[in-house]
Amino acid sequence: MAAEIQPKPQTRTPVLLNKIEASQDVVNTAVIIPKEDGVISVSDDRTIRIWLKRDSGQYWPSIYHTMSASCSCMSFNPETRRLSVGMENGTISNFFVYYHDIVFHNCVFFFLAHQGKVTVVLFVLEMEWVLSTGQDKNLTWHCSESGTQLGLYRTIAWVSGLQFDVETRHAFVGDHSGQVTILKLEQDSCSLVTTFKGHTGNVTALCWDPAQRVLFSGSSDHSIIMWDIGGRKGTAIELQGHNDKVQGLCYAPHTRQLISCSSDGGIVIWNMDVTRQETPEWLDSDSCQKCEQPFFWNFKQMWDSKKIGLRQHHCRKCGQAVCGKCSAKRSTIPLMGFEFEVRVCDSCHESITEEDRAPTATFHDSKHSIVYMHYEPTTGWLLTSGADKVVKVRQTRPDTFRATSTEPRNTRPFLPVLVPLGD
Ligand SMILES: [Zn+2]
Ligand SMILES: [Zn+2]
Repeated sequence: MAAEIQPKPQTRTPVLLNKIEASQDVVNTAVIIPKEDGVISVSDDRTIRIWLKRDSGQYWPSIYHTMSASCSCMSFNPETRRLSVGMENGTISNFFVYYHDIVFHNCVFFFLAHQGKVTVVLFVLEMEWVLSTGQDKNLTWHCSESGTQLGLYRTIAWVSGLQFDVETRHAFVGDHSGQVTILKLEQDSCSLVTTFKGHTGNVTALCWDPAQRVLFSGSSDHSIIMWDIGGRKGTAIELQGHNDKVQGLCYAPHTRQLISCSSDGGIVIWNMDVTRQETPEWLDSDSCQKCEQPFFWNFKQMWDSKKIGLRQHHCRKCGQAVCGKCSAKRSTIPLMGFEFEVRVCDSCHESITEEDRAPTATFHDSKHSIVYMHYEPTTGWLLTSGADKVVKVRQTRPDTFRATSTEPRNTRPFLPVLVPLGD
């Protein structure tokens, strides 16, 4: 199949806008509040903080709310300003972030969702559901109004990625066994649709693009797999561009880019406007498929031809089993997702042109060990939260950078207040 080469994406190095420091412990989740120059963070230090940008250009905490346990995850819906915070003790606390100057009520609408830490929480406005997974290996969904548990599904391992497709009510659940489970959720029950197996390590992050109907999964095996569900051909494309555990995945629909980050601080911005090919299955052979020298377990041929057995390798482009001598060269194959140099056989090496080697992704260094990432599509802002307890906000789109900075900011005083739900 001839790969289509599109013009290079308009990506420049993301510009660091702000650094938010002063959390006492690791910030497990932080999100940008669009239009308000605000950031919400939840941390192991048991706090929920809302940071606002002051005239000095620095972010200062406007709300500093201490919970009874460490805050492990959260879900924020900007339209309704609903905030659901998952905690170490298995409870989920729900708030409104109310933009008005009233006194903060310290009485929270919460429910016990799990026995043990809540690992992912997801508020689904359309269903009025709070979906969550926990250390107890349960996926549960609760009514966000009453806190009543509606359904439960037992997962085979700890879950660290959860996405939901509102239109078809499919939940995508990525777990520590490396598989992604697809469930169809009903009001009070669910059915197993299928499972995706492709990673050799834990699934650490999931991202669903409802427009293209594509699911991205990131793993501790350093790879990302793009599962093309909308294409209906079972295509799964591997993306190899990280040197460490993938920690976060976000899709930027306006620019058709996938943003991924890893725990070594690497941020990769992938142009998804190119047609990539699947990697081939590795072929099995008892001898090199190029020079026909036997591999070391092939005693018969070694004896017959009086040749020493060789180690088997595989060409990443054609999948053939080859010896080291016939695959001495390395190349990137961006249109197969290999942004790093990989082993290729001599004939494939010759067939790869300079044009084929043009990168389809850009690589950036966040300069901290990333634990969480959030992308705000309206502003193009990218937030990373690090193991160094620092939150960094970057601008990924140079064009809108100018537009947002010259736009008059909201002049009314923005005084967020956390209002407990169910009051
Ligand atoms: Zn060979
Ligand atoms: Zn080859």
